[in-house]
Amino acid sequence: RQNELKEWIGQETKTIDGIKINLFANIKGPEDVNDFLNNDAEGVGLYRTEFLYMNRMNLPSEEEQFQAYKTVLEAAKDKPVIIRTLDIGGDKELSYLNLPKESNPFLGERSIRFLLKNEELFRTQLRALVRASQHGNLKVMFPMITTLDEFNRAKALLIEEKERFEAEIKEKLEEISTGIMVETPSAAIISDQLAKYADFFSIGSNDLIQYTMAADRLNSQVSDLYQPYHPSVLNLINKVIDSGQKNNKWVGICGEMACDEKSIALLIGFGIDELSVTSKKVLQTRDYVSKIKKTDMEHLAEAALQVDSGEDVVYLIEEYLNLT
Ligand code: PEP
Ligand code: MG
Repeated sequence: RQNELKEWIGQETKTIDGIKINLFANIKGPEDVNDFLNNDAEGVGLYRTEFLYMNRMNLPSEEEQFQAYKTVLEAAKDKPVIIRTLDIGGDKELSYLNLPKESNPFLGERSIRFLLKNEELFRTQLRALVRASQHGNLKVMFPMITTLDEFNRAKALLIEEKERFEAEIKEKLEEISTGIMVETPSAAIISDQLAKYADFFSIGSNDLIQYTMAADRLNSQVSDLYQPYHPSVLNLINKVIDSGQKNNKWVGICGEMACDEKSIALLIGFGIDELSVTSKKVLQTRDYVSKIKKTDMEHLAEAALQVDSGEDVVYLIEEYLNLT
């Protein structure tokens, strides 16, 4: 099977009816660059920078971060590399920061909330990103956005750091495309507003499902409610893609849903532009995409929004996948 999939190396990712899908990879850092290249990913759709901060005794310096980002950008050559700013909190702790214990960490000072409250730490990462942007095709994405204000403040800090660096080197850098990870119901619901400000969206389905269904993604007691195909989740995903398209912004997805055969069919029906999957699943995903016809999946997507439960959606997808 793995050998068969190798035939997909160097091929385009497109549907039977010729619709191109950008197929990117999720990475944790420079250690994943070989995997990313060997599996022929077309870009990095999610660089989870928190791994650079974890399992150590202190914060990584600006220089250390710069080197890590630069290594990835140079290896990717001209391919886009979407770096997500630090997504700490929830289940990911930095013990050396001695942060106060929270009773509901997933609803607490997580991710962008933490970054905006710890501005110096945030600015250090943004400076490293600005410097690294000279070495490849960098895009920056902010996680766990819930309000437009959070995005605007984060972006303003990025621009401030960029201008400060430009003054230092006496040179103007290219603009850095800046996107929003849509992974809270709030962001999905106001996606039409957010799309006017962000350059792109990437749907974080792992968190979006957890927050929409109010079911902790790590708690097996409620795993029956963690339903990727639940009508509430699908309605939000459809809305986000719609909002992006209406505002001429591309929309991707970087959660687990991006590499499942059934959800890929549905996502393409909704009009997704980009799928970001773990490197090992890139060729498999290219194969899945090549077997479906977008126009059929559009009918599927329309039908899926009309049924009563996640199970009914799954039956429907199975029916459609056997048709093509
Ligand atoms: C997500 O929430 O879907 C996602 C891709 O981010 P993470 O899994 O790192 O929270
Ligand atoms: Mg997430």
